Amino acid sequence: MTITPPRTLNAKLYIVPTPIGNLEDITLRALRILKEVDLILAEDTRTTGHLLKHFQIEKPLQAHHMHNEHKTIEQIIEQIQKGKTVALVSDAGTPSISDPGFLLVRQCLKAGIEVECLPGPTAFVPALVNSGLPNDRFCFEGFLPQKKGRQTKLNKLKEEDRTMVFYESPFRLVKALEGFADVFGATRKASVSRELTKIYEETKRGTLEELITYFKSKTIKGEIVIVIEGKKPVSEYINEE
Ligand code: SAM
Repeated sequence: MTITPPRTLNAKLYIVPTPIGNLEDITLRALRILKEVDLILAEDTRTTGHLLKHFQIEKPLQAHHMHNEHKTIEQIIEQIQKGKTVALVSDAGTPSISDPGFLLVRQCLKAGIEVECLPGPTAFVPALVNSGLPNDRFCFEGFLPQKKGRQTKLNKLKEEDRTMVFYESPFRLVKALEGFADVFGATRKASVSRELTKIYEETKRGTLEELITYFKSKTIKGEIVIVIEGKKPVSEYINEE
């Protein structure tokens, strides 16, 4: 492993992942970049303000979220073109993964601005690995549409052989699992990871039917990732059981 020595930052956009719960998960490089950039774009400046305070970082913050991103991108690009280094963070995890970021990255690249995404926390990777389901190939579906288009999307996934990963709110968990059971069958294997990296972290594995019964008997709190086995599970290790 080569450790790249610290260097002066170039004017560019840094995508900086932040912890999804446990503050120890922030990387040394993320902290250094946040300390060195000229400006931090934050999904919620209060949430990021608390994080920065914890790590004793003082930096100008600018709000960058789904409600203003279309309007502010041009001005951000101008600032980078004038030589500023800018970091984008979201409330938790990797920006642009079910979070704002994609539009800004795309427009920066169009404008010839270099973009560097640091590796770091994101919820779907630990959920996928913890699930124990094949992960040589998988598809990340993020949040499904809540109403319009949901059933069409699910029907499309009916033939999917890869393990599928979904983000879901705790209030809709049981309903979502019931919807999956209707389309994929009640005996399809799945897992639900809740509150990853936090004190009450829990991963429950079973068939969709078993998971429905388990979560119906509980008050469900916290953040959730659902992982579901594909129709014909794909793994080069699958025959080694
Ligand atoms: N950018 C984030 C990432 O890289 O994972 C995702 C942000 S998205 C707005 C929030 C969703 O991510 C939550 O509703 C949940 O599905 C998932 N999530 C985030 N943190 C989590 C955690 N600690 N445990 C389980 N799921 C989590």
